[in-house]
Amino acid sequence: MINDQLSRNFKYLRISITDKCNYRCSYCMPKDIFGKDHQFLQKKELLTYEEIIEVVKILKRYGLEKVRLTGGEPMLRKNIELLIKGLKDEALVNQVSITTNGSLLDHDKIRLLKTNGLDAITISLDSLSQDTTDELNPTNNNIPKVLSSIDSALKIFGTLKINMVVIKNKNSHEIIDMVKKFLHKNIELRFIEYMDVGESNNWDYENVFTSKENIDLIKEYYSMSKIVVTKDSTSEKWQLDKYPLSIGFISSISKPFCSNCNRGRLSADGKFYTCLFSDAGYDFAGYIRNKNLSLGEYFEKIWLERNDQYSQLRFTKKIIKNKKNKVEMSYIGG
Ligand code: SAM
Ligand code: SF4
Ligand code: SF4
Repeated sequence: MINDQLSRNFKYLRISITDKCNYRCSYCMPKDIFGKDHQFLQKKELLTYEEIIEVVKILKRYGLEKVRLTGGEPMLRKNIELLIKGLKDEALVNQVSITTNGSLLDHDKIRLLKTNGLDAITISLDSLSQDTTDELNPTNNNIPKVLSSIDSALKIFGTLKINMVVIKNKNSHEIIDMVKKFLHKNIELRFIEYMDVGESNNWDYENVFTSKENIDLIKEYYSMSKIVVTKDSTSEKWQLDKYPLSIGFISSISKPFCSNCNRGRLSADGKFYTCLFSDAGYDFAGYIRNKNLSLGEYFEKIWLERNDQYSQLRFTKKIIKNKKNKVEMSYIGG
């Protein structure tokens, strides 16, 4: 176990395995910026699966317990099941999960991920209507396919999380439709406050639909009770009375959780970030590729010096935009 400057121990690594995506969500990779001239990472720059597994093996010595594969769209990377298998069988990670937009999954693929050791799956879905989707996720023209992935994941894993980023007056009117849709399913539907990640989404505080507004809205339709969660959980959880659906609220803007943030992030080209809002990463790829360097010692020094608390500072100082050159979500991994 290793503690940073704010006594937060390291437990969790989110790994972006590609910065590419088949979607162009307006809040993450707006299509005017991530167009045909955008320079994505080249294949030779990406960490190989063997290198990722090696990094994880080393970080396990410092308390790492959970890994989440993300991106970009992680399902764009070939044979991802081999990475999952290596993380479980070689790096001996306790929990491996994935966040995906669900468009590239089918029943057989989900089963393959599970048999290779995947513990849990999160599928992102911001709307059930094509009109809203055309505005928010303009390249998603197949909501039924995503819904079918959700059903398959539910059958295979018994439960799953669904992420919905809520943007005021864009999809906030669909919150109740989403609750209704999954009411009878053993799912955790998570509403995420729209965040100021990166520099390209033109984020404005005015567009944030807060968790408080969200909870008040749902309570007009359904009764629900708060569930006690672990100290390091990033979401507040509620259980709908009389239904299997539970609801999570991720309130990075209105109720920051920096004081319990035990996570690091690894980009697809092997840079390590100590915060989602970092503007520079540490060169893990260089360390893992040079046998004369010790990645363990390098990591230890970084974590011991870590003092990031961007969301908390934004909140307490009421600063709406206080930092420039933040890396993009699709690169650092959401
Ligand atoms: N492509 C995959 C997906 O969409 O699930 C994985 C990567 S995506 C960056 C991971 C999560 O970050 C998604 O649930 C997405 O909705 C969320 N996300 C992206 N940009 C965001 C933003 N500006 N604010 C809040 N959540 C965001
Ligand atoms: Fe792609 Fe996920 Fe970003 Fe949407 S949120 S553009 S699906 S990486
Ligand atoms: Fe962690 Fe940074 Fe987010 Fe705070 S702002 S919760 S330190 S990633």
